[in-house]
Amino acid sequence: MTAEPLPAQDPAHLGGETGATKRMANIGILIESGAEGIKETNFGVITAARRKSGGNLFAFIIDGDAAAAKAVLETYGVRKVVGVTAPAPDIQARPELQAAALAAAVTHFEITGLLGVASPKGRDLLARVAASLDAPLVQDCLKVDMDEGTVTKSHFSGRTTATLRLKGSPWVCSLRPNSVEPVPAPAAATAENFQAQTVDPGRVCVKDVKKSGTGATDLAEANIILTGGRAIGSSENYQMLRECAEVLGAAVGASRAAVDAGYAPHSMQVGQTGKTVSPKLYIACGVSGAVQHFAGMKTSKVIVAINNDKDAPIFGKSDYGILGDMFEVVPALTEALRKRRQPK
Ligand SMILES: Cc1cc2nc3c(=O)[nH]c(=O)nc-3n(C[C@H](O)[C@H](O)[C@H](O)COP(=O)(O)OP(=O)(O)OC[C@H]3O[C@@H](n4cnc5c(N)ncnc54)[C@H](O)[C@@H]3O)c2cc1C
Repeated sequence: MTAEPLPAQDPAHLGGETGATKRMANIGILIESGAEGIKETNFGVITAARRKSGGNLFAFIIDGDAAAAKAVLETYGVRKVVGVTAPAPDIQARPELQAAALAAAVTHFEITGLLGVASPKGRDLLARVAASLDAPLVQDCLKVDMDEGTVTKSHFSGRTTATLRLKGSPWVCSLRPNSVEPVPAPAAATAENFQAQTVDPGRVCVKDVKKSGTGATDLAEANIILTGGRAIGSSENYQMLRECAEVLGAAVGASRAAVDAGYAPHSMQVGQTGKTVSPKLYIACGVSGAVQHFAGMKTSKVIVAINNDKDAPIFGKSDYGILGDMFEVVPALTEALRKRRQPK
């Protein structure tokens, strides 16, 4: 990797042009889809990829229908939607083949920078693409400034951030889900398919994907998260949070103390040794606010704490605090939200 801390201004950066080679930058975005179609988290990445100084945005969909995705992607400024395939029937099960096909598309369309969501799939695929193109890679960025040519990344469990400049072309980076607010910027896009003439090395094949069964919404990409700490007291009591989460369209998380106590699986853990999340709303229920927990959720847009100890450190780190028993506050919140949802 050739990411460097910021030196003095250097024009040969993120999709930028040197004085000698003024050309339109082609920026690529790896688009991810879920059960409900194109994931919302992509729109923040597309927003981040736009440059005031111009350039074309390409959306790459692995083994997807480019024509069907065109309408929604052009709303955010994409100019070309490319369905990337390879001559193999089961490309979705072959990460190596997906990466090889995407790398071929990056080369074919003369992409100067490739961005994606820092989801498990995005991190995996982008790292493979960067390796195969020998491109600089920065994962889990909080910010990308396409005009300045810099990316910002959190270090030391969120205690500090570093602004980096990537040298070379193409470069690859992933953005933390929800770190950039999606802003529409309608454009007219075209759609096409690109079939990479790559051969699957056949070393990795995904046989089965098992859902953790802890909730419908993925924690890392959720817009709203309700987390239960040690005070939840049992795995059964998470049902109280799940009911509230269902009304809110939220995912349910856990502190390490709750995981260590066996109340929740590790896949639900938020924090330094769990998942890093960045939702629009984070509701911490019976969580004290230890630095290791905070490290995993401090970039949440709005933090609400429900705690029965007025001196709990979490109150000093929250936007809103509710002093009270979570076993009274959460059901009351669920009830109030349900009432609001009911048609009048
Ligand atoms: C190397 C290392 C890595 C770590 N990684 C992580 C990590 O990834 N994630 C993580 O979370 N922690 C992590 N920890 C652990 C961390 O230091 C804390 O121990 C942990 O976060 C505490 O979890 P908690 O807030 O649920 O429990 P506690 O600290 O026990 O807090 C429980 C809170 O619930 C409140 N409470 C009690 N009853 C109620 C009620 N009825 N209603 C409302 N509030 C109530 C209490 O006032 C208290 O504030 C790590 C620690 C180390 C050393």
